[in-house]
Amino acid sequence: MTDPKSKAHDGAQQRDELTTTTVSRRALVGGAVAAVTAVGALPAMAQEKHQPGAPTSAQSASYPKPPFPKQQQPWPGLTAKMTPRPDHGEASYRGSGRLAGRKALITGGDSGIGRAAAIAMAREGADIAINYLPDEEPDAREVGEQVRKAGRRFVALPGDIRSEGFCRKLVADAARQLGGLDTLVNNAARQISQKSILDISSEQFDTTLKTNLYAMFWITKAAIPLLKPGSAIINTTSVVAYDPPENIIDYACTKAGIMNFTKGLAKQLASMGIRVNGVAPGPIWTPLQVTGGQEPEKLPEFGSDTPMGRPGQPAELAPLFVALADPAFSYTTGQIFGAVGGRGGP
Ligand code: NAD
Ligand code: MG
Repeated sequence: MTDPKSKAHDGAQQRDELTTTTVSRRALVGGAVAAVTAVGALPAMAQEKHQPGAPTSAQSASYPKPPFPKQQQPWPGLTAKMTPRPDHGEASYRGSGRLAGRKALITGGDSGIGRAAAIAMAREGADIAINYLPDEEPDAREVGEQVRKAGRRFVALPGDIRSEGFCRKLVADAARQLGGLDTLVNNAARQISQKSILDISSEQFDTTLKTNLYAMFWITKAAIPLLKPGSAIINTTSVVAYDPPENIIDYACTKAGIMNFTKGLAKQLASMGIRVNGVAPGPIWTPLQVTGGQEPEKLPEFGSDTPMGRPGQPAELAPLFVALADPAFSYTTGQIFGAVGGRGGP
């Protein structure tokens, strides 16, 4: 039988090599061109001794700042069409066996924050199932390559989580194909910017609430009977749960709901040994933002109003997801952890 710890460790050693001074030469000749052209993947990560689970400080210092090129994609959007390409930690995340043998279902795991969480959790030793929409198949395939490269099992489960029946099937299929389930990441969401409440149709309101709140409720309900003591539920909320902007009021109220749900459910499940926590990102460079999540004319300045003066990259969220799944955080439940670039949040 394969020892998941040793596989995760092997993967970590390989990535360590990628993050040393040999990175540009090795990567360019070794087929890792895509990873290297992703934002922040190069140059100064060279000298620093790389700690597990983190982009180097030189690397994060080189992350792109506004202004960004104008761009829009039809929803749900594809990573490869974004400029610059987001960094999901492909070239930087090093595992150390923190999630060895665990089995995780991640909704919205094809792109953005969910993709970064999937890559990091796989490199920490977890088998991964992701849910996404059928249109996002190219993104899902890239995640599959990364998870398999880390030596872990990958299960792709496309489908629309606005359906309760699909949500129940999703959880059952994930548990069956992974051989169990102990980590649930409720991360999928819909965000549609509208300047006025008068422009939010009942259909939009319904879509936002179904995707962000109902699906989390349905998926969590289906998962709980399968979760053993030691399991973890992680919900993606947002900085907007605490300070709602004026252009996404339907979305922001779902994020406040997710924060509240997380804290209440944590109390309910504590005696079952199941921890429930949340991650609250600030502005992060992902497909959600270039597919109607922001007003298109404001997109070039995305993230400029944070003290860091830039949006975060998905890779900068991954260590939080790993930490909240890690059994070492055994006394941490009902909490929300922010990564917001310096203002607001929990
Ligand atoms: P993303 O577009 O990469 O991920 C969102 C995913 O949601 C999509 O990939 C898609 O697979 C999934 N999804 C949407 N509707 C669906 C449906 N009906 N059925 C199945 N899947 C569906 O964007 P992201 O920014 O990485 O978003 C991930 C999470 O982060 C979301 O919960 C979002 O609210 C949260 N968040 C993002 C930001 C940000 O600035 N990007 C800030 C705070 C919170
Ligand atoms: Mg996507």
